[in-house]
Amino acid sequence: MLFSGYAYNHLEMADRDTATGVLGLIQAFVNSVDLQDGPEELSHPDALKAWLVAHELMEAGPSVSEADLRHAIAVREAIRGVIGANTGGRVYPLDVATLNEAASASRLRARFGADGKARLEPEATGVAGAMGRVVAGVFTAMADEAWARLKLCSSPTCRWAFYDSSRNHSSRWCTMATCGNRQKARRFRERTRATA
Ligand SMILES: [Zn+2]
Repeated sequence: MLFSGYAYNHLEMADRDTATGVLGLIQAFVNSVDLQDGPEELSHPDALKAWLVAHELMEAGPSVSEADLRHAIAVREAIRGVIGANTGGRVYPLDVATLNEAASASRLRARFGADGKARLEPEATGVAGAMGRVVAGVFTAMADEAWARLKLCSSPTCRWAFYDSSRNHSSRWCTMATCGNRQKARRFRERTRATA
């Protein structure tokens, strides 16, 4: 069965950096590229299709074009933008427009399933439908307070999406082992240079 927004009722969290359920899906989509060191998982239309089929966002039948790939990457980066708002980043009108267009293009509708529960489902198929499922996932995730814990790494070259499981929601780096220490080392070098 294809993923639908309300299929994941419990936003249970795993370790410090990785969310599960619908939040985990959104995180995985945003982190399908490592902006700092690579790789880009969505490097080719076939790679996009494989990713979407593996995550049950799309049927295996429809073909995927270069335009579909550009669309999916635009949606991914727009989601990264709105996650940035959880860490005090500004929300850009282009990101908002991209997400609204993705919702419209997928023709998201409220549907009541046989279980009597409502969900958002796209009428469109292919990549447009898959992006509708992703946007429906963001919609569902935003309705849960756990959404505020999905953050972007404060390193401007990293911007990795991580789940902040710290008690006071104060984490700023994807992992202290890499980005946090890198920032600390940079500040230390700047201070040493300033005093030299
Ligand atoms: Zn980072």
